[in-house]
Amino acid sequence: AKSMGHNMYVVYQNTMSDNSNAYLTLGGSFRKAIDEEQFVLFYQPKIRLPDEVVIGAEALIRWVHPELGMISPDSFIPLAEESGLILPLGEWVIRRACRQLQEWREAGYAPITISVNLSSRQFMQADLVDMVRQALEDTGVDPQYLELELTESMLMADAQQSIEKLHSFRKLGLTLSIDDFGTGYSSLAYLKKFPIQTLKIDRSFIHDLGIDGDNDAIVKATIAMANGLSLKVIAEGVESRSQIDSLNGYHCQEVQGYLFSKPLPDVEFRAFMQGYVAS
Ligand code: C2E
Ligand code: CA
Ligand code: CA
Ligand code: CA
Repeated sequence: AKSMGHNMYVVYQNTMSDNSNAYLTLGGSFRKAIDEEQFVLFYQPKIRLPDEVVIGAEALIRWVHPELGMISPDSFIPLAEESGLILPLGEWVIRRACRQLQEWREAGYAPITISVNLSSRQFMQADLVDMVRQALEDTGVDPQYLELELTESMLMADAQQSIEKLHSFRKLGLTLSIDDFGTGYSSLAYLKKFPIQTLKIDRSFIHDLGIDGDNDAIVKATIAMANGLSLKVIAEGVESRSQIDSLNGYHCQEVQGYLFSKPLPDVEFRAFMQGYVAS
């Protein structure tokens, strides 16, 4: 990203709908995009093993840009972080996810969780816990259905402060997950100290299942460790049946990936849920 000064950035940009490049400007337009609700949450189903029913969804943001079409979060989240606009955007995501939970409930769907990704700047924000508490109160959501996905590097930046923050979230009744597990630099000792409920194995490890014996040993051991620590473990980026077979063999509890579904807009997610009703 090239800084143009005064909260304005220009990036050479890949949109999601095609591979054409276009210039994307952030700053004034980004703020406006928040106000005009140009953002949308897509939902990727989380599937329980071995019965393969939908038990949750990960909320993944997209920017539906009036000229550029759908823009992927990898393009604009880093810029939103840099500019600080991640704070209002992150609040919008939390509130949208809470409203979505209520909408599904009102439509009569069996309760499922929504997992929301936090960025590091958002996680460092002093009043984050209050903001989430307020969002839960305003929407009346049962907090056990809201999960936060945090990365190892986010937690390790200031481990002591992270532990306190996580305890505050636990007191609110939320569940907490470590995202991209295995790719960061967290110390195993901290796994005992962080009050988390879920480990999410990074998709790079899932990709290599059945290809590389050492990799399989790592995945198997990670799942065994999580089970030993009474943590739930979820594998992300599952794309094949043979990966499911390995993961079932290792007693992995949940999966997420293109094998079942890409992230879907609300309407399509509802249709997907109907094909995968819990019995
Ligand atoms: P992530 O949290 O690791 O999310 C998983 C990414 O993997 C998503 O990309 C998802 O679409 C993709 N994915 C899911 N299943 C498969 C699969 O089977 N194969 C492959 N190759 N990919 C799969 P997406 O939606 O482009 O999101 C990218 C990243 O942007 C996320 O990585 C997350 O770090 C960030 N992000 C997304 N939404 C938000 C948000 O609301 N707030 C923040 N702070 N970050 C977000
Ligand atoms: Ca995630
Ligand atoms: Ca991830
Ligand atoms: Ca990631």
